[in-house]
Amino acid sequence: MKLANDFSLTRRGFLAASLIVTDVLFNRIAGGPNAVAATVGLEPTPACAASDDITPPQTAGPFFKPRSPERKSLLEPGIQGSRIVLEGYVRSTKCKPVQGVLVDFWQADASGVYDNAGYRLRGHQFADAAGRYRLETIVPGVYPGRTRHFHVRVQAPNRPVLTTQLYFPGEPENKSDFIFNAKLVVALSGSPGGKIANFDFVLDLG
Ligand code: FE
Repeated sequence: MKLANDFSLTRRGFLAASLIVTDVLFNRIAGGPNAVAATVGLEPTPACAASDDITPPQTAGPFFKPRSPERKSLLEPGIQGSRIVLEGYVRSTKCKPVQGVLVDFWQADASGVYDNAGYRLRGHQFADAAGRYRLETIVPGVYPGRTRHFHVRVQAPNRPVLTTQLYFPGEPENKSDFIFNAKLVVALSGSPGGKIANFDFVLDLG
C-alpha cells in the first residue's frame, strides 16, 4: 500500500497514517463528501479485474416465463415462507457499475413449486444509477433433483441476456446438484427484518 512508503515508522507517522486510513474508511462507509477524493490512490479490488470473475451462465430450466411484472417485491398475500432480501450490484469487469440493467427473477415457492399459470414469485426490475438491485422475496424451496436456487436473467441495455442461477451456502443438496456452481453462491447475512442475500453480477461488456 502506498501510504506505508510515505511515513517513517515513528509514533507520529504511525498516528498520522492511522488517521488517514480511518478517514478513508469512514468516508467509504459513510459515503461522505470526501468519499471520491479519499479513495483515489487505493488499489482496485483484485477480484474486480479478474476475467474469471465474470458471472457464469446457467440453464434457464423449464419454468421461465417472459413478460414478468416490473416490481421490487415478490411478496404478496398468501405467499408463505421465510423472507429474504436479495441485493447487490451489476458491474462490468472494469468494476464500473452498470445502470439500467434488466434483472428478471423467477423462483419456486417455499414448497418447491413454480407458478406456471400466473406470475407469483416472478418479477423484473432495472438496476439504478449505481448499478444496484434489490428484491424482497422468500427463500425458495427445494424440489427433486435441485438444490435451493433463484433463477435470473440479466441484460444490460442493447446487450445479450445472461441467464444464470444463484445458490445458497451450506445447502446439503449443493453437493449432489450437477449444475451447482460455487461462483454463484450468495453471501448470506441476517438483519432484524430477515435474511439478506448479497450477490454482484459481473458482465463482460468488452
Ligand atoms: Fe428452478
